[in-house]
Amino acid sequence: MTAYPYETHDYDVVVVGAGGAGLRATLGMAEQGLRTACVTKVFPTRSHTVAAQGGIAASLGNMGPDSWQWHMYDTVKGSDWLGDTDAMEYLAREAPKAVYELEHYGVPFSRTEEGKIYQRPFGGHTTEYGEGPPVQRTCAAADRTGHAILHTLYGQSLKQKAEFFIEYFALDLIITDGACTGVVAWKLDDGTIHVFNAKMVVLATGGYGRAYFSATSAHTCTGDGGGMAARAGLPLQDMEFVQFHPTGIYGSGCLITEGARGEGGYLTNSNGERFMERYAPTYKDLASRDVVSRCMTIEIREGRGVGADGDHIHLHLNHLPPETLHERLPGISESAKIFAGVDVTKEPIPVLPTVHYNMGGIPTNYWGEVLAPTKDNPDAVFPGLMAVGEAGCASVHGANRLGSNSLIDLVVFGRAAAIRAGEIVNPKDRNQPVNIAEVDRCLSRFDALRHAKGTVPTADLRLEMQKTMQSDAAVFRTDKTLAEGVEKMAGVAAKMDDLKVTDRSLIWNSDLMETLELTNLMPNALATIVAAEARKESRGAHAHEDYPNRDDANWRKHSLAYVDGAKVSLAYRPVHLEPLTKPEEGGIDLKKIAPKARVY
Ligand SMILES: Cc1cc2nc3c(=O)[nH]c(=O)nc-3n(C[C@H](O)[C@H](O)[C@H](O)COP(=O)(O)OP(=O)(O)OC[C@H]3O[C@@H](n4cnc5c(N)ncnc54)[C@H](O)[C@@H]3O)c2cc1C
Repeated sequence: MTAYPYETHDYDVVVVGAGGAGLRATLGMAEQGLRTACVTKVFPTRSHTVAAQGGIAASLGNMGPDSWQWHMYDTVKGSDWLGDTDAMEYLAREAPKAVYELEHYGVPFSRTEEGKIYQRPFGGHTTEYGEGPPVQRTCAAADRTGHAILHTLYGQSLKQKAEFFIEYFALDLIITDGACTGVVAWKLDDGTIHVFNAKMVVLATGGYGRAYFSATSAHTCTGDGGGMAARAGLPLQDMEFVQFHPTGIYGSGCLITEGARGEGGYLTNSNGERFMERYAPTYKDLASRDVVSRCMTIEIREGRGVGADGDHIHLHLNHLPPETLHERLPGISESAKIFAGVDVTKEPIPVLPTVHYNMGGIPTNYWGEVLAPTKDNPDAVFPGLMAVGEAGCASVHGANRLGSNSLIDLVVFGRAAAIRAGEIVNPKDRNQPVNIAEVDRCLSRFDALRHAKGTVPTADLRLEMQKTMQSDAAVFRTDKTLAEGVEKMAGVAAKMDDLKVTDRSLIWNSDLMETLELTNLMPNALATIVAAEARKESRGAHAHEDYPNRDDANWRKHSLAYVDGAKVSLAYRPVHLEPLTKPEEGGIDLKKIAPKARVY
């Protein structure tokens, strides 16, 4: 028996996470009359979604012609043909509906002269299946779109009587007879333990950017959902694909939105050359993120970086009309001032590719249901568990996500998960009794970490992990760097048994909380580097110098990493090639999305 008393809460659905994905799921579940709890380690409106600046993609066509088929084509191409076709269709097709819903819930979008939702250009979003000019598809609330969405969804969720458990840290899933039946959480401000017993658990815990040393994501982005899934024996999918955003502010990593280039900003090297014109003659600075990040890295490597050490690039906004900066990009003018000491109306901003987004995550179908692939069925569903948002992998971003396609992923799949739960969760059914053995197992792990008496402080080990990932699983990768990285990370992971936690308190114990987070970051990081080492091709964000080409014959497949302690085993599952709507019924012409070279 565990030494920790706990309180039990019964719900139909428990959502872990209150970012855009968690809140949209929570709201949808509550609207359908499901008793819904949302458990979150930070206050909902402090989730990382709050930092999303640029906007949310949907083919509303407010600024010129657009269609969901064009959006789907761009997403397929952006994914470098690794996304699942059914999920990508669902995303592009449902996007306008999901955005209009947000508008009706009260998101204060920027407006055009006629009062329509304002849309800006973003990298990789085009017209005419990549043959026409860039499209204005990204709906924006100035450069504070995520902030506006979170506040609106939180208010609406409260209105629907969803119940919030704020500053509760979810520790582990409860698994009973091959299904998820709840989650155990630690309440940070009073040290009590809570068991959430539920018919459906939704992981919406966000990404794991903090596995790297320099990231645009919040310190709370520690891949807790992936850690919980891995401990439950579930795989993590496509983890080798980590997006570097071209424009993190040099030194701090703070993001300058792609919207800055969407509004007309451009990059230059030490010769003052707009080098993107050379690499991507058509879309230039608005090529896909992986492409721009690689070009910047090449410029720096070949000696054309700016600054005293020639180790970064300039982003110019100083030619833009002050009204545009003031109206459309007020937040980034502020960030540039604070983090780089730069007045954007006069000087360029020093920038560098910075870890930004995790394409990989917990594999799901397009309803958000978590997959536990078997030999006979690569799409077998794990009952009682869903994953949405950056924690999940549906997979719509494949090997590379397009800017503004994450916010739309959050709301489309948060909404889809709620629709699905409405079909399969019966509020009249009784919940199972709490699985006491599972709660004990979880709390023993918690107790062991709380009393960890080794020699390595958590912060030191975390730093070692972050530096290893930064240098060995970077923008460019080689067999040599990856093999070294795998070996170094095995050593780093082995030290998890030698952790030292000095604070034994149960109340506001950041030492213990960061240790728990490290136990989640570590499986995410291990899966990333091991899957990267195994993938002998270049695709999207995975740029392998020893295998510079995409290899569809051998590698157009999703990787699955099963992490057990420091050990990772890999398997693969096929990419879904079938669309949801047949071409003769108005679906996309399949010839349009057949694999081809990816040039911008
Ligand atoms: C700076 C920045 C700017 C961006 N700009 C854009 C943009 O303009 N457009 C776009 O499409 N995308 C953008 N992105 C990407 C996008 O914002 C993120 O992918 C997205 O917000 C992730 O949302 P989420 O709901 O999955 O997770 P998050 O918003 O990260 O929320 C995670 C939630 O999980 C909770 N949680 C985590 N672990 C636990 C635990 N153990 N117990 C309890 N709760 C837990 C947290 O409290 C939090 O509520 C940006 C990302 C960054 C970092």
